[in-house]
Amino acid sequence: MKFYSTNNPQHQVSLSEAVIKGLAPDQGLYMPERIPVLSKEFIGKLHEKSFKEIGYEVISAIFSEDLTEDQIHSLVDHTLTFDAPIVEVEKDVYSLELFHGPTLAFKDFGARFCSKLMSLLLADSDKQVRVLVATSGDTGSAVANGFLGVEGVEVIILFPKGKVSELQEKQFTTLGQNITALEVDGVFDDCQRMVKEAFLDPDLNENLLLTSANSINIARWIPQALYYFYAFSRMPKNGKKVVFSVPSGNFGNIAAGILAQRMGLPIDHFVAATNVNKVVPDYLRGAEFKAMASIQTISNSMDVGNPSNFPRLLALFGGDENQLKEYVKGYFYSDQETVAVMQEVFDSGYTLDPHGAVGYKGLKDFIGENSGYQGVFLETAHPGKFRETVEKALDLKLTLPERLAAFMEGEKKVKPIQNDFEEFKTYLRLKY
Ligand SMILES: *Cc1c(COP(=O)(O)O)cnc(C)c1O
Repeated sequence: MKFYSTNNPQHQVSLSEAVIKGLAPDQGLYMPERIPVLSKEFIGKLHEKSFKEIGYEVISAIFSEDLTEDQIHSLVDHTLTFDAPIVEVEKDVYSLELFHGPTLAFKDFGARFCSKLMSLLLADSDKQVRVLVATSGDTGSAVANGFLGVEGVEVIILFPKGKVSELQEKQFTTLGQNITALEVDGVFDDCQRMVKEAFLDPDLNENLLLTSANSINIARWIPQALYYFYAFSRMPKNGKKVVFSVPSGNFGNIAAGILAQRMGLPIDHFVAATNVNKVVPDYLRGAEFKAMASIQTISNSMDVGNPSNFPRLLALFGGDENQLKEYVKGYFYSDQETVAVMQEVFDSGYTLDPHGAVGYKGLKDFIGENSGYQGVFLETAHPGKFRETVEKALDLKLTLPERLAAFMEGEKKVKPIQNDFEEFKTYLRLKY
């Protein structure tokens, strides 16, 4: 399978290049040159298969020309080490709990798949890859835990000093082994700029194989399709149409759902649910697509003013905007609405995190306006990850799950650096 750039369909590269480069040189996103459609027979029997069995088939459909069966099995086995159950919250409304992985958010799926795939692609080379990541929180923890102990890969995480919650910080500063955390005396944008500069620096790139495990990487994007197949297979078969509601920021997660649909999964509609960073809901309702400065909210992992996966949404519909607007409906909510939903659903016995709450509300509004549906909203993080917001909204004390509590015990180890590219560069050159 070749992968093309959304900025230039003529620019096509191998799987290996798409994964190691991450972003195309023209800044486009890589897409598979064709989308394989799975047989009706396979779709009809999904409910008889385990999560991993579904994973082998779906991943084979895309990667079988490039990877052996053994490699595909080890990739899926490494990724799906935890479950993604659907939980009935009320009639026709299901929560797809994607927070049962090591860092309690859905990004664990993509990060685990990405790390394993990189190590498979590099197994025959003597190259050591250095993964550079700038993070404001969640990405750092998912990537660090996904790559922990993976041979041939060193991860360097840059994070802004004092700007990341203690819990998030602990998840990538206490690991050791092949994970190094650099505490930058600056803000997130400074970290991102330093990483970008490193990728462009001829000197560094001559001597080191640098890569990014950024969320637009196909190795993080594609595996997210797996839990749509799995969730769909566990829904009751009652003749109702199925809608998925996805709390969205960079729109990678919902784009993976649409990929699953294009591969033959009969999802009838999608809801793109956002906070007040509502560029895409506005677009879906007829406005121009217009990036804006991001606005801070309580669902902060979705505070994105220029969603980076947007070109993928269009590409999945062959560039046909009308089709995109037909299948995907946009809704957005204020923080007040989000808190109200968290309280209401808590009273009926389920605890939402602020991101899942946005997804839930989008689903409810869609089902209210369209009859004959049952639906799933993606609960993208454990409420304990956003402890302060949840405790304040619900006026209670949360008990952290053991895995989260365990991180809090670890000892933070960081290397402090100035907000200065030359210092970062010197550090990389001396270390490697
Ligand atoms: C990253 C993230 C999102 C947004 O996902 P996208 O793929 O960027 O749309 C939603 N919820 C949580 C908890 C996240 O960490």
